[in-house]
Amino acid sequence: MKEKKNRIYILDVTNRDGVQTANVVLSKFQRTMVNHYLGEMGIYQSEFGFPTLKHEQNYVEANLDLAKKGVMNNMILEGWVRAVPEDVKKALELTNIEHINLSIPTSQIMVKSKFGAQTEGNDIIKMMTEAVSLAKEYGIKTIGVNAEDASRTKVKGNNSNFDEDFLLHFAREAKKHGADRIRYCDTLGYERTPSIYESVKRLAGEVQLPIELHCHNDTGYAVANSVEGAMGAIDAGVDAYINTTVNGIGERAGNADLVAVILAIKHACGLEEQDILDPNIDLTKAWKLCNYTANAFGIPIPMNKIGIGSNMYSHESGIHADGMLKDRRNYELYSPEDLGINESNQIKPVKSNISTGEFGGIKGLKHLYESMGVQIDNEREVLKLVQYANAHNQQPLTEEELKFIAKYPAQVADILSLSPKDHSLVS
Ligand SMILES: [Zn+2]
Repeated sequence: MKEKKNRIYILDVTNRDGVQTANVVLSKFQRTMVNHYLGEMGIYQSEFGFPTLKHEQNYVEANLDLAKKGVMNNMILEGWVRAVPEDVKKALELTNIEHINLSIPTSQIMVKSKFGAQTEGNDIIKMMTEAVSLAKEYGIKTIGVNAEDASRTKVKGNNSNFDEDFLLHFAREAKKHGADRIRYCDTLGYERTPSIYESVKRLAGEVQLPIELHCHNDTGYAVANSVEGAMGAIDAGVDAYINTTVNGIGERAGNADLVAVILAIKHACGLEEQDILDPNIDLTKAWKLCNYTANAFGIPIPMNKIGIGSNMYSHESGIHADGMLKDRRNYELYSPEDLGINESNQIKPVKSNISTGEFGGIKGLKHLYESMGVQIDNEREVLKLVQYANAHNQQPLTEEELKFIAKYPAQVADILSLSPKDHSLVS
């Protein structure tokens, strides 16, 4: 029998790491749209929120429901919780989540300062394995175990509990109790490409579990480390899952950028021929997603942004322009068409002299939907939802958002009701 080829999958964390970033806000409705666009792009998994938080409950449940209806394509929706039994219990009490990642620090510096100087490596393993066992008992389908600050866990300490093999021991115990993957977190963006390749190759080789790469960009290595770490996993004979965010938004300097990671795997030297990227990914949907998210975050795309910046496909210098005119491939590794950059994918406000929103009325609403060619028969309900969605987003609703509201009113009503007991929107 032919062996299954190991591949690199994308696990996007915009709706968790991205939205927990200082000065960055998305409404729950906008996060739902981001999930929808990620699904449309064929992304494997979205870490879409915090199932232990009360104000996330309706959003989580409604998104799970939308996923069942096929709105997220086949994308897995997974929640982030701390690797302690209380969190697993709470997540399952509040939601019907089926895939989770359990997170706990593994570096001596983080363990000692977060859990107290007396805490040893074995205490961390105990908490983590209890959480994994409980998740397994509850029937969770995918359990990822996140080693926070994994990249600084290799440091040799005085305490034998945190020697350089602690991470291996941690990962073996996770596997023994039912974990499906280990997330190697470069929480501080500390890694370099040769070291992450070697560390991940060793970890993956010895433990034989798929590895997730979670890399931050504090020294500009996030994309390179993600890809080289993933190659370490592939070379050790397991699958790799790269954690990305849309437009690279995340804590401090951000996370590995979704588009840049995909372009590197598809076009960088030595990788282009390997065909190791998840074949379900449709890069032509990328620009719409990036465009929407930039707009929703209120953070414009820089002109030199990899793949999607406005200068990516403009050439001025005489030699470059001449070379481009002779053959595009002289100065471009990929083309705007590859990323779906065109007028029809531009996220824009509705083309109408009548708009609607927080203070809109029924006549304007009807006119607007008619101008988009959408027939609605539950006008009052849709008007209420449009008003609320606009109040949540604090910016004009896009054409696709308006259509989404009309198509999935029940789920949108849940998403817009933050309090679990507040069902006044569902009339
Ligand atoms: Zn992170």
